[in-house]
Amino acid sequence: MGYNDSMKKIIASKDQFTALLADHALSNHGISTGIRTETLSGALKLKSTPVETALFQLKQTFHEKKEEFPIYRDMFIYPSFIMEIIAFTRKVIAYDIPSDTLPRRNENEKELARIVQTALSCMEWEETENRTSIQNQFAQITSDQNYCLYPHFINEPYLYEVYDSLKKTIPVITTPEVHPQVILRHGLNARQEMEAIAQDICRKGKTCNVILTSMDTQYPLLQSVFARYGIPYCTSEIIIPVHIPSVFTALLRYGVSRSVQDLQQACRVNAFGVPLDLPVQQYLFSHFTQLQTGKSIVAKMQEDAVLSHSCGLYEAMENKCTAFLEKIQPALDSIHQAEDMNEMIHACYTIMAEHPYLRDHNELKAAMQIREILSGVNEQIHTKEDISFLADYLETITVKGTYQDSPFCHVTDLTHIVPAADISYVVSVDGSSYPGVPNESGLFDEKYMEAVSGYPSQLTRNQMYISQLSWIESSATQELICSWHTNDYQGREVQLALEIEQKFGKNAEAWHLDRLSPAPLYPHTITSETAAKLFMHQGAVTGSITSVENYFRCPYQCFIQYGLHVRKPDYGSLSTNAIGNIQHSIMERSVKDFHKAYASIDEAQIRAYIDHTFALMKEASPDQAHLLDMTQERMVTGIRLTMKFLQSFENSTSFTPDQTELRFCEEIIDGVILTGVIDRLDLYGKEFLRIIDYKSTGYSLSETKVKACVQLQLLTYAMIAQKLYGITPAGVYYCSFRSETYDVPAMTKGRKEIIETDFSDEAEEERMMNQRTLKGWTFTDRTVEMDETGTHIATLKKQKDFELIRACMQEIYSIFLSRIRQGDISLSPDESACGFCSFRPICRYHGEYRKQNPLVFQDVKFSVGKD
Ligand code: SF4
Repeated sequence: MGYNDSMKKIIASKDQFTALLADHALSNHGISTGIRTETLSGALKLKSTPVETALFQLKQTFHEKKEEFPIYRDMFIYPSFIMEIIAFTRKVIAYDIPSDTLPRRNENEKELARIVQTALSCMEWEETENRTSIQNQFAQITSDQNYCLYPHFINEPYLYEVYDSLKKTIPVITTPEVHPQVILRHGLNARQEMEAIAQDICRKGKTCNVILTSMDTQYPLLQSVFARYGIPYCTSEIIIPVHIPSVFTALLRYGVSRSVQDLQQACRVNAFGVPLDLPVQQYLFSHFTQLQTGKSIVAKMQEDAVLSHSCGLYEAMENKCTAFLEKIQPALDSIHQAEDMNEMIHACYTIMAEHPYLRDHNELKAAMQIREILSGVNEQIHTKEDISFLADYLETITVKGTYQDSPFCHVTDLTHIVPAADISYVVSVDGSSYPGVPNESGLFDEKYMEAVSGYPSQLTRNQMYISQLSWIESSATQELICSWHTNDYQGREVQLALEIEQKFGKNAEAWHLDRLSPAPLYPHTITSETAAKLFMHQGAVTGSITSVENYFRCPYQCFIQYGLHVRKPDYGSLSTNAIGNIQHSIMERSVKDFHKAYASIDEAQIRAYIDHTFALMKEASPDQAHLLDMTQERMVTGIRLTMKFLQSFENSTSFTPDQTELRFCEEIIDGVILTGVIDRLDLYGKEFLRIIDYKSTGYSLSETKVKACVQLQLLTYAMIAQKLYGITPAGVYYCSFRSETYDVPAMTKGRKEIIETDFSDEAEEERMMNQRTLKGWTFTDRTVEMDETGTHIATLKKQKDFELIRACMQEIYSIFLSRIRQGDISLSPDESACGFCSFRPICRYHGEYRKQNPLVFQDVKFSVGKD
């Protein structure tokens, strides 16, 4: 491109200014003087009424006259509705369309026409002078030798006519003619397409333009993909996401309503500039529904048998919440003390002006826009409704800018013309994205505009738009690559745009995509010394049985959780743990209070045990009160039915409950100390003991899982109880609180007849009892003492050999100890490990899952009488 002295005033679009000046400086010893860049609107001296002025003026006028507009009056509170009226009114002025010629084919259109007439007459529109200005300035530009035109895209049809005439009258800066090779490529989906383009750019290493057919949807994808490939680029105009409008509008909304919900929203968007961790935020919103300091539940919790265990966590969270509330209190006070709406806006503005977000220049730009808007409309804000309207409008504020890293690759869209590069990639030229001709929509859609005389027809506008897209064909000197993806993310087929097919055919090849195999997983190990420091204390590993099971499920998970002590805090009062603890406490207290007759307690007694805990939980989490009520009722029903079953069981067994919630800390083998709590231990004199473990869901004991070292709990309890009592275990069982569903056929077929199912209460009760039977293993043949009727223990008649099992368990704990000592923290999850693991973001595992196959005693059966 060459410049001479006569080219002093260049008409271009705003986003081209920097490149034009830089280009000029390149050919002028690095100095850019003697030229001036102007937009076409600027050169024509076009005026525009500030949108906020029009918005508030129209809002006020429409509000005053709302009785005249029965159809649309409810829409006047929405800025987006008035913005549509403003945009259309500007078109009416630009094309000099007489308002009495606007369509009036139905009642809606009649009212719309009156609304537009009101908009035209209620204020002075600066745009009214523009037609005269265009005529005068056009003559001036064409007579001024210093003007030239740089090709750019014109979106407004009435300006395009002027642009087109100027092109024929004043010099146009042109680039050498180019004839790039046109290539069609397709990828499977949008992501693959962008990956392929990124790879092609890296392979060829030539300057390029990437022309997006939709900046909104494709740019975020491009950003992430190009960042991964390290491709430097610059952009034409893009919308930059900013937070400060949300901050200010959240403050305004709280200032108007003073509601807890709006204050929570303000905290969510960090409106006070005091960041709050997500867990603390969740706790604050759930436990401090009034968002006030000084409200502590911890002291009461310390007195509750169930919740006292969680006090430490609650206290820590309360302290964080209180610290946060104290920090934001001065800001809240400034809003609360405002005496009128203007003072309140000023208070919110002051909070925003001190926000740390403003260190970012784009956020600062947004804040300055807010300031300008406020100073323009300050006089028109009087009521709470005005502020809500203002907040709705401010929320739509965007900041436009560019990203400037390197001119090597220029990212643009169809309507922002950029200089030619070696290669151009036109992205996603499918039927729905290309050519992307803008259509009139909303209140004044194409159907409406068709009837507006004096406004260019859809065909004219389409031709204007399409003709301007010709720049794409000369945007590359070597290759013009038109690309699209053949399927969307739902797998639906996507077609190549008809316009591309007609122009370049449909002879396309698939993108060549290099795929890297996942990075190899390096074995995770720690030295024996480190393992000893992390896991051992005074020569022994101490932990829960669950931690050993978890180790065999995934050693790496165990390393993070128990070695490094990384844990997700559990603050929720409704967590599974809390509910399980309450159920356990009912069983514990009933046995302590009533011994073998514990199961005869009635509903009132069950409620007496849990009412205090639930009341406290509701006080701690008022927003979950309804959910807690439902949980409490479900729990009472579940326990009542469980007690009914247990009462029948107690009548059928000679064992008596001896211990509940028996805490232990015992060495199971040399070097492994286990801690835990046995839910219940029953005795038959001094001859046998029996373990019962309460569960909220149905469980059964699996030999494969035991040998795979992932179901150790019940059997370890039996070993520990044997050690503590010196008595032989007779059985270990799970007792479920859950009422399982079961199928009952309406009738069954006998030999000669159809037998109808008995649905009497007794029969139903029997079925309920059957599905609640205790599941586990029996080690003795003294079945009468265990369960005389034989209807309460599922596997009473199939005994297992406890001595064999004990040997197996000892081997498992020996393997555990030896692996820990060797520092084995391998990342090798079994098929059940990852489901509830929170450490995926740390481990990033992407391999195969181990089957839960036996590790020990593979060829030995535990059943009595089998090898
Ligand atoms: S997510 Fe799976 S592989 Fe990763 S640490 Fe957890 S259990 Fe192990």
